[in-house]
Amino acid sequence: MFRKFGKWLRPEPQSVPVETIPSSAATEGVVETVKDVLSDAVLDTEPKSEAVVATYEPSAAGDQSISTPAPVEAYVPAEISAPTPLEPATVAAPSGVTPTVEPVSDMPIASTLSADPDNGFAAAPAITTETNDTTIPVNNEESPAMTKYKLEYIWLDGYTPVPNLRGKTQIKEFDAMPTLEQLPLWGFDGSSTLQADGSSSDCVLKPVRVFPDPARINGELVMCEVMMPDGVTPHPSNQRATILDDDGAWFGFEQEYFFYQNGRPLGFPESGYPEPQGKYYTGVGYGSVGNIARQIVEEHLDICLAAGINHEGINAEVAKGQWEFQIFGKGSKKAADEMWMARYLLQRLGEKYSVDIEYHCKPLGDTDWNGSGMHANFSTTFLRDVGGKEYFEKLMGAFEANCADHIAVYGPDNHMRLTGLHDTQRSDQCSWGIADRGASIRVPHSFANNGFKGYLEDRRPNSQGDPYAIASQILKTIASVPTSAGSTAAA
Ligand code: ADP
Ligand code: MN
Ligand code: MN
Ligand code: MN
Repeated sequence: MFRKFGKWLRPEPQSVPVETIPSSAATEGVVETVKDVLSDAVLDTEPKSEAVVATYEPSAAGDQSISTPAPVEAYVPAEISAPTPLEPATVAAPSGVTPTVEPVSDMPIASTLSADPDNGFAAAPAITTETNDTTIPVNNEESPAMTKYKLEYIWLDGYTPVPNLRGKTQIKEFDAMPTLEQLPLWGFDGSSTLQADGSSSDCVLKPVRVFPDPARINGELVMCEVMMPDGVTPHPSNQRATILDDDGAWFGFEQEYFFYQNGRPLGFPESGYPEPQGKYYTGVGYGSVGNIARQIVEEHLDICLAAGINHEGINAEVAKGQWEFQIFGKGSKKAADEMWMARYLLQRLGEKYSVDIEYHCKPLGDTDWNGSGMHANFSTTFLRDVGGKEYFEKLMGAFEANCADHIAVYGPDNHMRLTGLHDTQRSDQCSWGIADRGASIRVPHSFANNGFKGYLEDRRPNSQGDPYAIASQILKTIASVPTSAGSTAAA
């Protein structure tokens, strides 16, 4: 019976044994309590130096050999058509009072977003300043108009082997859409997320990237790292903090996933299976993709673009109900940040359609239905600009030597997917091949034809993998290989 199949194969979350989480007792005495840290940070809207993480500045060095996507910084979501216009001017606001505007649709603000070259994300919808009605006080210097912003702080919990996304909202007043530097640290109850025990449960949220929230008036999505109560030590669950800083490292992730409804892939009949695989990949028409999937996928694309995420494309995948999107970013943490935010937006969107996102790499088990991956395409400045066959072969040697360390963070149950069938290499082997989709690492033709320069595709990471842990391991292996100059390609 199919339902049973789907349920049986769903991975059950496992809890981290509490004793593996360093108790805050270890830091007691040397640090302030979390309350002290937070009361400083939360009550004070002045920037806190410990909360500041520089936003990524793209390197000037371009890759001549392959086409590179437009940087996020250049994105202006002008093609998104305006929904019902907001009309604050029709509200007679008493002088000195900022007019408030009620949401009129789910995505009312995309057309008012504009790119902010300073921080790489689109600026706030300028609701209070876009009116022509001069009777409403705007930017009155004596009493500057303050706006209440909805700040959704988002983080990864302590579940293993796969962390879950968590989020909660705080409302704060600013005179304009706050930048990353203006966002305070915040806290949460780590005992509810497997990140602390009940007796000392506070963990700290440190904002690291910020995106406008296209679904909310005056909303921001704030990606956070989880910190220990001192606010500066990364929590053991914080994989982002383990990524080497390297502006020259570029990643492109291809996220595959299934839509699920009622315990089975969207479009599957109540019992049994639909027509075997064949026409679904990049297919069109009701028989191939059904009637809601494309609507969700398109809406997700629009929301990602409006949030300034460097979404690169979509395709229907090989199995029915299976899709893919790609995210590319320059800088060692950028694509991973945006992948987590794109997953968040997809899951949130699924709530509206009563559809779940199934990331398990082989939700249909040992059948002829394809599994889901998250191929990681990567390059460093050295790989793009210098490369060479000798360096490439040494690099592949390091990938082979570290095979087990890579597989350990490439997502759970990968042995079910990396079988040597369905365009995969076995999980216990590390091979490379030019344009070979059956290899662990595919070397694009352009790379081999260009003197072994460009980017490589690690096809092993699966759809449930944590892009932070994946990027971290890839850069660690690259850093172990000396370049001809005696240094390493990953800083
Ligand atoms: P395929 O399905 O054929 O493997 P996709 O087009 O789905 O290919 O994905 C290719 C990925 O490679 C994209 O995410 C793209 O951004 C990424 N990519 C392209 N150039 C580079 C580069 N220089 N460094 C890292 N990733 C890159
Ligand atoms: Mn792809
Ligand atoms: Mn694919
Ligand atoms: Mn691929």
